[in-house]
Amino acid sequence: MSRTRAEIESEIMSLLRDNIRNIVPYSTARDDCKAKMDIYLDANENPFDTGVNRYPSPHQPKLKKMLSVLKKVPEENIFTGNGSDEPIDLIFRMFCPPGKSSMVQAVPTYGMYSVAAAINDVRVIDAPLSADFTLDADDLLSRVEPDTRLIFLCSPNNPSGNLLDRDAIISILDRFQGIVVVDEAYIDFAESPGFTGLLSQYPRLIVLQTLSKAWGMAGLRIGMAMADSCITGIMSRIKYPYNISVLNQSKAEEILSDPLKAADRVKELIAERTRLSEALSALPEVLKVYPSDANFLLVRFRDKDKAFAALMEAGIIVRDRSSAYNCAGCLRITVGTPEENDRLLAVLGASRAQAGSRSPVLAGGRKASVFRKTGETSVCVRSDLDSFRPPRIATGLNFLNHMLEQIGYHAHIALDVICFGDLETDDHHSVEDIAIALGDCLDSALGDKSGIGRYGFSLPMDEAEATVLIDLGGRIDFLWDVALSGEKVGDVTSVMFRHFFKSLSEHLKCNLHIKAAGENDHHVIEGVFKAFARALRQAVGRVPGGNDIPSSKGRL
Ligand code: PMP
Repeated sequence: MSRTRAEIESEIMSLLRDNIRNIVPYSTARDDCKAKMDIYLDANENPFDTGVNRYPSPHQPKLKKMLSVLKKVPEENIFTGNGSDEPIDLIFRMFCPPGKSSMVQAVPTYGMYSVAAAINDVRVIDAPLSADFTLDADDLLSRVEPDTRLIFLCSPNNPSGNLLDRDAIISILDRFQGIVVVDEAYIDFAESPGFTGLLSQYPRLIVLQTLSKAWGMAGLRIGMAMADSCITGIMSRIKYPYNISVLNQSKAEEILSDPLKAADRVKELIAERTRLSEALSALPEVLKVYPSDANFLLVRFRDKDKAFAALMEAGIIVRDRSSAYNCAGCLRITVGTPEENDRLLAVLGASRAQAGSRSPVLAGGRKASVFRKTGETSVCVRSDLDSFRPPRIATGLNFLNHMLEQIGYHAHIALDVICFGDLETDDHHSVEDIAIALGDCLDSALGDKSGIGRYGFSLPMDEAEATVLIDLGGRIDFLWDVALSGEKVGDVTSVMFRHFFKSLSEHLKCNLHIKAAGENDHHVIEGVFKAFARALRQAVGRVPGGNDIPSSKGRL
């Protein structure tokens, strides 16, 4: 049975320490005045411009807006801190009365949980993972004591590298009445959606993530806690007022605005993780390489001191984790660049053949990427018409995300679309600019259009029917006969769908005729996107055996 907002908030409030529940936060200089002013004489800053003479934004709205698009979590559910170490400490301060409470952690795990517990005078109860580092929910819950306020789970776990079993975590969320923290510092290296999608279902869940790992921003110290807005709200009230510097906020925004670069690096690190794991497993000195869903490997050596010393001697530092629970003889090795990994393997005695080779980057093919930035949006689109992988879509509009995913899946092409737009105004600029960038990207990937067909597709979508005809011949003609009854479909304004396909046809330089009808607007639009994707699949698909231009004119 779903609970009311008041019931959820009252439950969270009841878990807080008494002194935190009603705390009056320090009000920062700019909190009371949201409008942009001409002259700032309110905060005792130095008026002469050094580039950093003004205090930073205390609540980091721009950063949170970008993270919200990328993580698909509303801004109000995101707290940004000085590394994830900051929210780890705040969680203890919020929920654990010093000297009178305990936390349970699944060990071996990240060392900061017990350090933060010690600083806050909170007792630590260790719940061991199994010998192969799997989580047993029953065993962990049997260790909970009456004063236990928090459970810390790290998935993928540091130092073991593995994802913890999803059902076991859900079982803990269902049965423990306190706060459950799932630290997903390494989630971008794993093939798992993680737990952010369950936040609305579990108001006592806090998911931690960081920009330090997959995003390559460890030096900026930016971490996130994602949770019910009541929890993120309290975190914002008790943090240091200006916890992320001007320079760190702006550098993070710059790096986040090119998310496909980060995604490429993650892909390369995952490929290197496989190569390193296979190469290390083949060495006689290595007893075991544990399976990893992170950017490091836990490796058990016959003689870890000898391996550690040899690496040190060669100027390579790895982490000795042999004193952690169940990790005797183990070193934790971070996946480096291909060259760094080659050096590590050579020092450990791997032959050239054992080291394997870097996975080849597939050259050529019908690929393109477009980065388009205006005062209103910043969009990147990337596509490969000759290969498929699950689409990566983040636009800040949930329904449009879902529709663009349909294009990737049903056209069976690789498609990434990321857009940071001015959704606080409305969806117009985002939808239009995505269509423009998508059209330009597909057009550029098509190149000279050799070998392609020109076609169309009709499909039923429950009670609705959609037909999309496409001709990529280069002439632009747009027809839209789609009846929608509501003002919005999901979170997208209905009139924007016509605009989307019209802009797309102009930039893809195609004839595009779309007809659809039905009772349910969601079905009608989903039918249109799927039929478009299928028509596109036929139209861009290479005709078997033919590399010719599909026109009697011999050119398009
Ligand atoms: N959680 C885990 C599991 C980690 O391994 C680390 C860093 N090693 C962190 C959190 C801290 O990350 P940050 O740099 O965001 O403080």
